[in-house]
Amino acid sequence: MNDEEQPKGRRGRGGGSHKTLIIVLVVVLGGGALLGIALLVGGKTPVFPQGFEVKDRIQCMNNLRLLSDLLVARHSVGNLKRYDGPAFLLQVAPDVADEDLAVFLCPGEPEGFASGRPAVGSPEFIRMYRDLTEEDLSESRDWSRYTSYAGPDLKNFPVNRYWPEGRLWACDRCPGGKPHHLGVAVLQADTRVDFLAPEHVKGFEDGRVIVGPGAPDQRLKKMSVGGGK
Ligand SMILES: [Zn+2]
Repeated sequence: MNDEEQPKGRRGRGGGSHKTLIIVLVVVLGGGALLGIALLVGGKTPVFPQGFEVKDRIQCMNNLRLLSDLLVARHSVGNLKRYDGPAFLLQVAPDVADEDLAVFLCPGEPEGFASGRPAVGSPEFIRMYRDLTEEDLSESRDWSRYTSYAGPDLKNFPVNRYWPEGRLWACDRCPGGKPHHLGVAVLQADTRVDFLAPEHVKGFEDGRVIVGPGAPDQRLKKMSVGGGK
């Protein structure tokens, strides 16, 4: 029975394959067109004026999640260094692929935040990270060309440099007090990424995030500020 059916089946498949191909093409093209239209409508319709802000926010939080994964990976092999400030985050640059280095940049960063930064993705941009040495990272310098995020920096950002939970590993910077895509993304040392609206962040106007008892946000209230050796 099978012997008889197989040739028939083959013929059938042979005849049908064009039809199948056409159907697949129609489905793929139709789906693509629909997706394109959806993207166009979603991106341009005035019904969602904050669409780009939300997109930026999601991207920003994903950046912090990725950096968190890399920091945890380093910690798990005992290779997490206690640099101050953004250098704490930049220590994972060697673990990031060339094409992913924009992970260090917040998509909602105000224009002009970093002067002299090469175009994102350009060979100069990539070289900037590849040339970083451990010695460089232990210097305190203006890292705004390299990253939009503040790491543990007790002078400018109250993010604590030590591992225990309830502390901040990174937060968005809000230079010049400009609203930073409608809030601040923070990465806690327990690897949670939160988004805090301006009204929940004391010091948002000055481009800082205040944590500890004086913070208006419950999540930040419980965090430690400074010191903590
Ligand atoms: Zn951001």
